[in-house]
Amino acid sequence: MIDAGAAMSGVLIDGKLVAAAVREGLRQRIVALKEKGFTPGLAAVLVGENPASLTYVAGKAKACDELGIFSEVIRRPAELTQAELLAIVRGLNGRPDIHGILVQSPLPNHMDELTVTLAIDPKKDVDGFHPYNVGLMLLGRGGLLSCTPYGIIKLLEHYGIDPAGREVVVVGRSNIVGKPVAALLMQKGPMANATVTVAHSRSHDLPAITRRADILIAAIGLPRAITPDMVKDGVVIIDVGINRIDDPSSKKGYRIVGDVDFEGCLPKASYITPVPGGVGLMTVAMLMANTVLAAELASKSST
Ligand code: NAP
Repeated sequence: MIDAGAAMSGVLIDGKLVAAAVREGLRQRIVALKEKGFTPGLAAVLVGENPASLTYVAGKAKACDELGIFSEVIRRPAELTQAELLAIVRGLNGRPDIHGILVQSPLPNHMDELTVTLAIDPKKDVDGFHPYNVGLMLLGRGGLLSCTPYGIIKLLEHYGIDPAGREVVVVGRSNIVGKPVAALLMQKGPMANATVTVAHSRSHDLPAITRRADILIAAIGLPRAITPDMVKDGVVIIDVGINRIDDPSSKKGYRIVGDVDFEGCLPKASYITPVPGGVGLMTVAMLMANTVLAAELASKSST
């Protein structure tokens, strides 16, 4: 195991490499399922025309195609009523060819995301957002794990960075990143057993908290908010942030940066995720992993 406290001059944690390894590990399982007559199937429901959501859903469908997972994208206009969306979800719950359902966020303002999540059969909740799966995760009993936190654990695992006994500081307490990754890392079990601190916008003296971290997970949504003075030598940095900043020199007029001042923190870090190219690439891979797991469980319960 790597000593996460040792200064090692910033090894890059390569999300592309680890995501490819996760996908590779799924191929054999997909073949085995198909031999039993089960093709894993994922349905993505997209309401409205949010350009980022269109891109995300297209990326997920492409990832399915590449692995031989059946995928279906259900597109509806932003005027769809919540009752109509719930009817679509219930229809998918009942389809034996669909093992995973995701309803792409954000939903239009007239809909309540929790009500929609609650309508998804927990066995098909491949985003891992249903309170049933969140509860199982908190109890340390598995279930379908939320994709981004699950991807962070896989990144650490791939690089032999064992969180056991380490001080982990998570900055951010959202339901999709901060809270679940903190919950996973505090569990009693492999790739966990960390001492976890969760900081947020009301935390006093954030730099004093982040400097304690052997492993720092930044999920804030503020470009380069973590500066070199906020980390100690040898820290492992996991940067979840995806932030657009103006960049007139780029064709698009913007570029993507993380929540961490990457160039500044690199010399102090033992390991660090780049943005883009780090955590962001893991989320879709873990969605595929959850879809395959859901299909495996469905195939077992039907035999
Ligand atoms: P979020 O729901 O906006 O939560 C941000 C968290 O950061 C909140 O808990 C907030 O505190 C905290 N925060 C804000 N300003 C802070 C400050 N100055 N100091 C300390 N804490 C502060 O964001 P999210 O959904 O977790 O996403 C975080 C980032 O990760 C975003 O850039 C997002 O795009 C990215 N992301 C990436 C992936 C991926 O890679 N696949 C997935 C999800 C999200 P309060 O709770 O007190 O408001």
